[in-house]
Amino acid sequence: MNIQDGQIPDYLLSVIKEQIVIYNQGRSITQYNEIPDTTQIPIANQTLWFKIPDVICVFVDMLGSTKLSAAKQDKGTAGAYQLFTNTAVRIFHEMEAPYIDVRGDGVFALFNSNQIYRAFVSAVSFKTFADLEFVPRIEQLTTVKVGCHIGIDQKTVLVRKIGLKRKNGRSDRQNEVWAGKPVNMAAKLASLSAHNQLFVSDRYYEKLKDDKVRYSCGCPNNNMELLWKECDVRENKLFDFDKAYYIESNWCKTHGRDFFESLIELDK
Ligand SMILES: [Zn+2]
Repeated sequence: MNIQDGQIPDYLLSVIKEQIVIYNQGRSITQYNEIPDTTQIPIANQTLWFKIPDVICVFVDMLGSTKLSAAKQDKGTAGAYQLFTNTAVRIFHEMEAPYIDVRGDGVFALFNSNQIYRAFVSAVSFKTFADLEFVPRIEQLTTVKVGCHIGIDQKTVLVRKIGLKRKNGRSDRQNEVWAGKPVNMAAKLASLSAHNQLFVSDRYYEKLKDDKVRYSCGCPNNNMELLWKECDVRENKLFDFDKAYYIESNWCKTHGRDFFESLIELDK
């Protein structure tokens, strides 16, 4: 051991030693093609991890939440967190995301590789809500201008539950840990964006092949245009890809619902 006797209390030293013993046992990896039900994700077996390819992560994050004060505007701040987070969880749930979690002032959802367009329409639906309903309401109540930013990435993940086994029903000491690029990269793509921009990695963008997702519906002047702008991220060491793409548009007031429905059909 590099930690010396007397450097930290014995009961913490024994915790560290125990974890190093588990670490030294190595890890075994089981491959899955789809995100398993959360109850199936291992916790008791200390060495087991699941590996799932091509998982899509949609990360939505409140922009400017640090300007909300829990001390000075308790009700407005509570309302902002609740409206933003609950709506995100509920939309991802309706879109059949196999895994959803709340992280800080954001929410992420994981989708399987055969749910490309479900991931996309859930992001645009949340973006439309955030821009037209959430931001103006919070500004009216608190005078704070918050916003929403969203990122999507897709790649292999490793998962297991980490923490203490459930005791007396309390679940706050454990959580699923999703190691790998998608959750990290989606969060970082979100942080790259300004309000109402949806940023995606090039590897996810390449899967969005249909014209309905690449081009606008043409409103208001029957002028169909490419919706996506390219962003060079080679200089940015946070990313393991070269290009990101972003859109700013919400669902069209006339054609949004039709586009939504025809896009989710493409997953089948
Ligand atoms: Zn339209």
